[in-house]
Amino acid sequence: MPLNILYAGRPARWPEFQPPLEAEFKAAGLDVNLSENIAPQDVDYIVYAPTGPVQDFTPYTRARAVLSLWAGVEKVVGNKTLTQPLCRMVDEGLTLGMAEWVTGHVLRHHLDIDKDITRAPGDWSAPIPPLAHERPITFLGLGELGQASAAPLINLGFPVTGWSRSPKSIPGIRCLHGHDGLQEALSTAQILILLLPNTPSTENILNAETMGLLPKGAVVINPGRGPLINDEDLITALDTGHIGHATLDVFRVEPLPEDHPFWAHPKVTITPHIAADTRPSTSAKVIAENVRRGEAGETFLHLVDRKLGY
Ligand code: NAP
Repeated sequence: MPLNILYAGRPARWPEFQPPLEAEFKAAGLDVNLSENIAPQDVDYIVYAPTGPVQDFTPYTRARAVLSLWAGVEKVVGNKTLTQPLCRMVDEGLTLGMAEWVTGHVLRHHLDIDKDITRAPGDWSAPIPPLAHERPITFLGLGELGQASAAPLINLGFPVTGWSRSPKSIPGIRCLHGHDGLQEALSTAQILILLLPNTPSTENILNAETMGLLPKGAVVINPGRGPLINDEDLITALDTGHIGHATLDVFRVEPLPEDHPFWAHPKVTITPHIAADTRPSTSAKVIAENVRRGEAGETFLHLVDRKLGY
């Protein structure tokens, strides 16, 4: 009997995901019926996204795991109908995309590239930007994406500090944790990158008080999640000049409503949640490997800790 695997991602992406998923299940030696339409009681695994059709997991009585196509799981982790193990996405393609997006936006601010883009005719002024080793950077969040995004910056010579929930030792990164660690991590951050998950413990982590710890003129880059930042406090800090610029990829409400003050703010750059997307070809390997593990009785990869919320 083939395994019944329900694709419950965004319907518009089914044509992109179907061929690599089928290829990777085959490569993993799995006999699979992959479909968008399977009777809930017959489903063995659910390939899931919050933008897909499944919101109530109750009828999926046989499902052995819910395999998220998204790295962030805040929209599903608290779902009371979810009794199956939940695995989040850790995808090589997504990770590379995030590292590239973060590196690009850090270098924009580090080199003050805007000055040249908006340079007036005849303006030959050229203040020399500091070298990377003179520009301390801090990451809040040292998981898959924080570490991968820090790596190219470390190679360029930036002094990198990182903050996480648990203590860590990572070559090239000054690793901090806990309340005091956060204060220290913020106090040196000329560029701050938020790569934390959205959980009750991280909501509003960047607020008037914590922004006050940043050096004057610091740049905030948020490809993590919108609720990490108190929007009103950020606008105040931008208006006073305490924060020099904010580059934001994620928001409390997406798409960001047209009347949100971020759109018109001269010190805010908005990207429409495109920092890193799950790539069908690489993520299909991760999904297939987790189904293989489930069938072999092995531990799933990237299991979400339901209590911690990530
Ligand atoms: P991850 O591997 O789970 O890493 C999360 C990091 O945050 C870990 O270092 C963790 O600490 C730390 N953390 C969690 N709660 C904390 C707390 N209360 N205090 C201090 N540190 C805390 O996640 P990831 O794969 O790197 O992804 C991070 C986030 O990026 C996702 O949750 C998602 O929201 C976002 N994302 C955005 C996009 C986009 O396109 N914009 C794409 C993908 C993902 P420990 O190491 O101690 O556990």
